[in-house]
Amino acid sequence: MSSVDSEGMLISERVEHRRFRTIEHGDLRSVRALVVHQTDAPTAQHTFNGYLAKGSGAHFLIEKNGVIYQTASLKKRCYHVGRYLRSKCLAVDKTTCDTPQIQTIQALTWTLQIRALDRYERTKDYPERYPMNADSLGIELVGKHLDAARYEEVTAMQNESLRWLVSELYGHFRLTPADVYTHPQISYKHPGEASSAVWQ
Ligand SMILES: [Zn+2]
Repeated sequence: MSSVDSEGMLISERVEHRRFRTIEHGDLRSVRALVVHQTDAPTAQHTFNGYLAKGSGAHFLIEKNGVIYQTASLKKRCYHVGRYLRSKCLAVDKTTCDTPQIQTIQALTWTLQIRALDRYERTKDYPERYPMNADSLGIELVGKHLDAARYEEVTAMQNESLRWLVSELYGHFRLTPADVYTHPQISYKHPGEASSAVWQ
């Protein structure tokens, strides 16, 4: 079992703290969901080097050998979701969409459509929409992007660590398996990212 200290760091012998304040952007007031990513880098060190510059990042990083690093406080917001949210009602159950509104948006050109859908989705509360940076934690798995559709296979040790980490976070934030997403599910990313991640 793990605990969370006053700084928002997960305390467990399974977690190494490697906090980068450069990737923390203000307070994260609630955690409603988890988003699983792959780094597109060959080692954890490559990602740490990138984190030294102020910018995007996630709360955890799992190395290929299964070592779990916590890279940002659970009380701080990280930019890991990306610019535009996909529509959850369109992906999951079209009958739950506000049809006239969606029809107006779908009549737009693709670029305008992505922006309008994002604005529309942000008017909803989670879980009616996908999670955003403001209400989710990001978990990165080390792994390279191979081609248009594929990333390196997530290793068995990474998946074992991911399962452990996710179950600890379920307990700390009262989440369920329905609150865990892969990055391409919720925003516009290469479809292969984290596709071989298994947490159940
Ligand atoms: Zn990602």
